[in-house]
Amino acid sequence: MKKISELYQRDDWKKEKHVPVIELPEKKKAGEPLKVKVMVGKEISHPNTTEHYIQRIDIYFMPEDGKFPYRIGSFTFDTHGASTEGPDTSTIYTDPCIEVCFKTDKPGTVMATSYCNIHGLWTNEAELKFS
Ligand code: FE
Repeated sequence: MKKISELYQRDDWKKEKHVPVIELPEKKKAGEPLKVKVMVGKEISHPNTTEHYIQRIDIYFMPEDGKFPYRIGSFTFDTHGASTEGPDTSTIYTDPCIEVCFKTDKPGTVMATSYCNIHGLWTNEAELKFS
């Protein structure tokens, strides 16, 4: 039996188009709102068609002294070109790119996961330190 922790894939986002890229602002202050940007396909575009797309991104924050991560947000990308005319006919597509704000007094790790409907689960992390 497979464990879900074994199914999260990771790689260098500059070479692998499924890896969620996490961008944090340069200046960060404890307790002040922090804007986090997460995208899939920053260096190499991921396909975005009715048949093959990024369905979801989830973002978590793990304080360095914490026991479990906090979920910051979950984002689904629901529009993939389909219409009543058939696959890839609407010309409307959601891109897997989001921005979200949160605040914390604690340094830690921002974690992101992405899900491709064909290539599964991917993950990445970024360290959060205050200036
Ligand atoms: Fe894929």
